[in-house]
Amino acid sequence: MKKLAILGSTGSIGRSTLSIAEQFPERYSIAALAAGRNLDEALAQALRWRPKIVSMATEELARQLTARLCQAGVTGVEVVHGTPGTVACSTLPEADFVVSAIVGVAGLEATHAAILAGKPVGLANKECMVAAGEILTQAARARNVPILPIDSEHNAVHQCLRVGAHNEVKTIWLTASGGPFRKLPLEEFARITPEQALKHPTWVMGRRITIDSATMLNKGLEVIEACRLFSVTPAQVRVLVHPQSTVHSLVEYVDGSILAQISVTDMRLPILYALAYPERPASSLTFDLAALRHLDFEEPDFARFPCLRLAYEAAEKGGAHAIALNAADEVAVEAFLEGRIPFPGIPRTIERVLASTPEAHPANLAEVLASDREARRMAHALLA
Ligand code: MG
Repeated sequence: MKKLAILGSTGSIGRSTLSIAEQFPERYSIAALAAGRNLDEALAQALRWRPKIVSMATEELARQLTARLCQAGVTGVEVVHGTPGTVACSTLPEADFVVSAIVGVAGLEATHAAILAGKPVGLANKECMVAAGEILTQAARARNVPILPIDSEHNAVHQCLRVGAHNEVKTIWLTASGGPFRKLPLEEFARITPEQALKHPTWVMGRRITIDSATMLNKGLEVIEACRLFSVTPAQVRVLVHPQSTVHSLVEYVDGSILAQISVTDMRLPILYALAYPERPASSLTFDLAALRHLDFEEPDFARFPCLRLAYEAAEKGGAHAIALNAADEVAVEAFLEGRIPFPGIPRTIERVLASTPEAHPANLAEVLASDREARRMAHALLA
């Protein structure tokens, strides 16, 4: 029985992880939930799973959850809050596996602490790898802790990499749906509304990542994530637009063989893979190959998606530039969703923040967070 700590339990990855635990009760139980701000969902999860510890975003929310658990006659669930609360979840001695699915750098400290505590991590939070990938992967290597990617593309790459040696890898091909604006005339980009950008053609996801898919900044973050997870250079990672989102990614070996991973577009599969690795449990997540008529692939259009170019530039520079790419985008996406800037304002903001970011390589998490704060400050100042 694996006891799970889920960081970001009320988000879409967190809820999918719990549905896996529901389907495989003989394999998984829940030891810790970092639930964030959704009090009703946190209460329902705590009642259903009876974890040892639940963390809420704030002290007030933690107080309310404690009161409601008390009303329901539940004792024995410890309620904590804030970053120390999330760290308490990720380092809980009873937990055997940590699912890191808090969006943004908020999950960074807890993910790092889990690795330092020697716990295998299923990583759904790509911002952690983008902001602090060097630090996290070094810590993981030093302690021989596996980091299993839950991001669907990296999960596919992880699967394809199991059949060859590292020095035999030529190119990692990350597939991208191309988002809703793959064919929209460029002159209409300035009039894109948040409602249009929030309609993703193939995946149902959170709000920021859906906008990031529309700008393809998400794919840019994934390029950086791949470099760090798999120890390859940015030149070895290429993006391929694949509107059906059926091939989740591919690995090309030096002999010319290309391996692809194909499955349903359902995040429960990469989650199950990460939780069960190196095993493969039988599941009902089947894919109808015979119903598949064709697969389309094309090169991404860098003029249409300037965020992709910015991401490759940041990937080459690494360090503070990767951090600034992510931070500036988060601020710009928020401004776009609030109607304060047009859609092309997102890459414009990121480009200006990157231009003012010094080349630096933070050596620890405190420096990463300082660099992140500075990039956000610059983005806010530009948008004010
Ligand atoms: Mg992805």
